[in-house]
Amino acid sequence: MTMKKTAVVLLSNRHVHLNREALDILYGEGYELTEKKKLGFPIFAANETVTLAGPKGEISNVRILGPLRPYVQAEILKADNYVLGIDAPVKISGSLDLAPLTLIGPKGEMHLDSVALIAKRHIHMTDEQAAAWGFEKGQNVSVKIGGERGLIFENTAVVFTEIPEPTLHVDIEEGNASGLKNLDVVEILA
Ligand SMILES: [Zn+2]
Repeated sequence: MTMKKTAVVLLSNRHVHLNREALDILYGEGYELTEKKKLGFPIFAANETVTLAGPKGEISNVRILGPLRPYVQAEILKADNYVLGIDAPVKISGSLDLAPLTLIGPKGEMHLDSVALIAKRHIHMTDEQAAAWGFEKGQNVSVKIGGERGLIFENTAVVFTEIPEPTLHVDIEEGNASGLKNLDVVEILA
């Protein structure tokens, strides 16, 4: 019997991560995010949103994900680049050299020279699971999607996280292009 390598799917829409300083500026000194929906501890979707503004246009009601982080980052969709008039690169979350954008909240706004990216698709798994499958941190693998819009996602990064089961993170554009839904199970090709 051959054991297939599989991952469960979690789709993400555009969102922002804020640090303490940014939340102070956008929502007021000492403001605390309120939880709308749990996304897997400790991450949650907040009730609070921001507007993203670029040289060409704006996108409002962009969800803030909590808790606060040490850095500010806007994870947008490829199509958002055209609306905003920026050229955000495809990179792993937490990377440097991102596109500029202005974040607007109810109490203030802030311009950042390096803040917007399109999240590179990736699979979270424990280092034990990765070792069992022979994968290294940062390695790219391919993922096979079945169904009527079936395709193969190449260049999918392996990232190490303490997580109950291997989880494929793709954005809603990738999900729509391939017909994926949350909690679908996909095959990881070695
Ligand atoms: Zn992720």
